[in-house]
Formats: sequence, C-alpha cells, structure tokens
Amino acid sequence: MSTNNEVWIWAEQRNGRLMDVSLEILGKATELAKEINGSTAAVLLGDELQGLAEELVAHGAHKVYLFSDRQLAYYQSDAYTRLISELVEEKRPEIMLLGATTIGMDLAPSVAARVKTGLTAHSCSIEIENDGEKPMLIAAVPGWGGGMIVNILCPNHTPQMATVSPGVAEKPARSDQGKGEIIIMDVALNDSDFRVRTVEMVEDLPEGMQIDQADIVVSGGYGMKASGGLESLKELAGILGGALGGTRPVLDEGWIRESGMIGVSGKIISPKLLMSIGASGANHYSAGFVKAGKVVAVNNDPNAPIFDVCDIGIVGDVNEVIPVLIEKLKER
Ligand SMILES: Cc1cc2nc3c(=O)[nH]c(=O)nc-3n(C[C@H](O)[C@H](O)[C@H](O)COP(=O)(O)OP(=O)(O)OC[C@H]3O[C@@H](n4cnc5c(N)ncnc54)[C@H](O)[C@@H]3O)c2cc1C
Repeated sequence: MSTNNEVWIWAEQRNGRLMDVSLEILGKATELAKEINGSTAAVLLGDELQGLAEELVAHGAHKVYLFSDRQLAYYQSDAYTRLISELVEEKRPEIMLLGATTIGMDLAPSVAARVKTGLTAHSCSIEIENDGEKPMLIAAVPGWGGGMIVNILCPNHTPQMATVSPGVAEKPARSDQGKGEIIIMDVALNDSDFRVRTVEMVEDLPEGMQIDQADIVVSGGYGMKASGGLESLKELAGILGGALGGTRPVLDEGWIRESGMIGVSGKIISPKLLMSIGASGANHYSAGFVKAGKVVAVNNDPNAPIFDVCDIGIVGDVNEVIPVLIEKLKER
C-alpha cells in the first residue's frame, strides 16, 4: 500500500499535560522526517487540548490531528485504538512512534495489530536508512535475553512502528514561530469503544530524588538479596546526595517503585555517576545508562557483563564492599 513520507507520533497527555517522552519522540520524528524529505504529524486525543496541540506545533509538528471529547479525557484503550487505527489506515504514514510508557505499551500493540503491521517495543535507538527506495526504520532493542543489541526492521508493512523509551531522544527546542496545522477530527464514539472504561487516573507521586534528575544514582540489582534488600544502598545514596534506583528484579521484589527502574522498559538516565551494585549488567538494564558520566560496578562474579560497561569495577560481595564504602565516605 502506498504511503506518504510522514513520520507520526502519538502525543500522550495525562491530566491535560503532555508527557516529556511525547516531545522527545517528536524531536526524533522531526530528525527522521528531514532525512526522508517528509513531514511530521502528531495525533493527540483528550478533552479541550487546543493549548497542547499548539505546544506540539511550537515543538515542530507540521500537523496535529486533534480528537477532542469529554469521554477521551483519560486514556481509553478501545476508543483510542479505534480512532488512531482508522486515521492511520486512511492517511498511511510511513513511520509511527509512541512513547514506551505503561499506556504506550498498551496502545502501540493494539494499533499495530489493527492496522496489520509490526512493532518494535522499547527501542533504545532509532535511525533511518534512506537508499532512495523505501525509507527503512532501524529500531534497536536489547535481544536474546539482553545479551546483545539487535536492529529490528519492518520492510513489508506500514507504518513502521516503534515504541521509544523515555530519555532516548532529546526534547526539541520550542519556538513561537512554529508553523503547523491543527486538524480537528470528528469524534463519534459508541458503546463498543468502552468495553473497559478508565474512570479515574491517580498519580503515583514519586518520593525523594528521582533517578532521571539526579547527578548521582545508586542502583541495586538482584544480588542485593544477599544483604536482605536495598537498605544499605539507601544509606549510600543518602551519603552521596544521590537517588536510588534498580533493576527489573529489584522492582519485582518491591524494593523500588516503578519510577526507579533503570533500563529500556524503565528510565534511560544520564547521571554524572552511576553506581551499579549487585546487577549482572544485561543489555536491557545497561542500555539505560549508556550516557552516564562514570559507572562504578560491584559484583561478586568477575565475568558479569556489567564489568564490560563500567569505568571502575569491584569484584566482591556486596556485604563486604558496601559497608566499607559507606564507612570511607562517612570519614570524608
Ligand atoms: C523485553 C525485556 C525488557 C527488559 N527491560 C529491563 C529493564 O528495563 N531494566 C532491567 O533492569 N531489566 C530489564 N529486563 C530484564 C533483564 O534482561 C535482566 O534480567 C535484569 O536486568 C537482571 O537484573 P539483575 O542484574 O538485578 O539480576 P540478575 O541477573 O539475577 O543478576 C544479579 C547479579 O548479582 C550478582 N550477585 C549475586 N550475589 C551477589 C553478592 N552477594 N555480591 C555481589 N554480587 C552478587 C550476581 O553475580 C549477578 O550478576 C528486561 C527483559 C526483557 C525480556
């Protein structure tokens, strides 16, 4: 099926506020569109969001498709999927990017299945190859259990879709000179659009310093089980004036909140110092701190992959190394 050279994003809003990742992927979409001499469009759903549509234009969107209805104020899985899928089928963009947020993770595969295309989930890098024929989106993800980074292509179907983790791309600059068209879409909703209905959104307000804002991050892995959890790392983070984060298994143990998970399905962070303690260093995790200034790792397995991606590696038991680190730092 023929497509235009448009690169689309889904602009996620919660409680009338644009998610940072939406602007980040808009920046990435603008870069890709330039490379294929195309244009960008954002799809925005919600209630009374003219102001947000204008913000998207100010951040570089050439078009904003705006679906506005009181019933769309909160994310509604069926309704959002149908409206976006129908628009995609009508306009046939070449590429569509969505943020790899919890909501994006629900919406992206639903839309991809409806429009019968492929989806690369949790991309940690997005590039384009443009050899004159079909522009090819190259979305990189950690594969094979996180042991390597693999490029995923979708050569035979459109749109080429990917979810992109927060922090992978940079937010574009805002300009009041942005020229874009806001297209108000007709919204006709019916009961089948609300087989499941979101009736309320409750914000999980993060506590303390956040890993994507801190200069120093102490990150615990499942190896911290040996010391009964992350208490000693909390102390270490406190002494260093840093934030506490961790790996997926640590989140599963309930030792950190979701906002503290580092990696492709968590946050991509760029602190000046990252201390990774008792984490193996799977790519799913370490792709989350490739932009960190210095990485210090502690692990009792000298062959752990974390030692391939750190600046300073300490082979040792967390129960021996962490108390010494805390003691020495307190002395200073
Ligand atoms: C699609 C997908 C997405 C994923 N996304 C993420 C993500 O965003 N973030 C993420 O973290 N993971 C993610 N994962 C999981 C990821 O692949 C790894 O399984 C995970 O990162 C491993 O966490 P870990 O290093 O804490 O645990 P483990 O792999 O169990 O490693 C524990 C480490 O602790 C060491 N250790 C044990 N005892 C001690 C001790 N006493 N002292 C010192 N060291 C010790 C061990 O040698 C080992 O290396 C994802 C997986 C998939 C399939």
